[in-house]
Amino acid sequence: MSDRKNVVDIPGDDAAPEAMHPVIDLLQALALDINFEFPPYGDDAVKSLGTGFPDETRAAIDAADATLFGAGSKDSTEIVRYLRWGKGTYANVRPARWVPGCNSPLANPQNIDLVILRENLEDLALGIGGDLEELYPLGLSSGRAKSTLQDVGEAFGGGKYAIKMITEGGTERIVRFSFELARKRKAAGKRGKVTCGTKHNLIPHPDGLFLEVSNRIAPDYPDIEYENWIIDDFARRLIAEPQEFDVVVLPSLYGDIFSDAAGGLIGGLGLCPSGCYGEDYAYFEPIHGTAPDIMGQNIINPTATIRTATMMLRHLGYGETADHVDRTIDKVYRDGDRLTPDQGGTASTTQFCEAILERLRE
Ligand code: ATP
Repeated sequence: MSDRKNVVDIPGDDAAPEAMHPVIDLLQALALDINFEFPPYGDDAVKSLGTGFPDETRAAIDAADATLFGAGSKDSTEIVRYLRWGKGTYANVRPARWVPGCNSPLANPQNIDLVILRENLEDLALGIGGDLEELYPLGLSSGRAKSTLQDVGEAFGGGKYAIKMITEGGTERIVRFSFELARKRKAAGKRGKVTCGTKHNLIPHPDGLFLEVSNRIAPDYPDIEYENWIIDDFARRLIAEPQEFDVVVLPSLYGDIFSDAAGGLIGGLGLCPSGCYGEDYAYFEPIHGTAPDIMGQNIINPTATIRTATMMLRHLGYGETADHVDRTIDKVYRDGDRLTPDQGGTASTTQFCEAILERLRE
């Protein structure tokens, strides 16, 4: 039986395809037994098929072993929603590792090697909300003396609300994922520590539950260190002592914010990959957006996309190749002569990828 893997590739919008196309060339140069499919999506699909997410693209995603996604805006948003909620990819693994040559703003970025593990399906990411007046019949207190939400809403010209939903089961599986990940990392020589971050003092219901579940599960993993911080205290610690962190498990919104922050510490969004894992599907997408401000200039840093691809290769069983590519990227940064502008260099996206390919062939 063939071990051939099928990967759906969606390069994304704005500048994202400028990173994805050379990365696909690079993956194809590795001559792995992977078939890449490029189904229609986004603006072009709207023009030709009347929708940004055609049925054939959904079918291709369903049939594939994984999806590699660039970064989406506008008409591709529905695809990301499907990859997350439709495929149940609840665990968003966002590593931030500094390597020499990366443009960190810190004087001492050595040994920053952490993972922000973002719960991907709950919290405010659900996008549920509406007009404040929908809540008036509940008679909720506004928190101000002797006034309801309705009193305040009416006095201040109405307003909006959003739902922050955290479930017990959703938290349990992401927290268990964090400990399993810490175990794997410990086996690979890393610290073996889980940090949980919440604002349980201010938001006792959802954040309190997230913390309570984390605290309850931690003793099941006595080989892994465990700590929890109030999220603002975590913010300070992340900046002051980023080397202290290994796996950081966070509800969705904090995970989104602090993975960008961790990316900033190691040298920027152009370096930061991610993988989203569910029970029976995984998709892979750099944490950065579509970088519209640098579109068409061939200067987007493809490191995030390449490292995202190596996360996918590991998932597909090509761990050694993934390690080899990651080590090769590290060497190109150490050499430092063909880096993109975001890393202080003058190389184009194409030249950076050529440097990787040359090094891979050595
Ligand atoms: P989103 O909300 O979709 O996450 P965003 O508004 O946060 O997107 P990004 O598209 O991530 O924005 O871009 C933020 C800044 O980082 C922009 O100035 C962009 O050019 C820069 N940037 C993002 N990714 C890269 C990259 N791979 N290489 C170089 N610069 C990048």
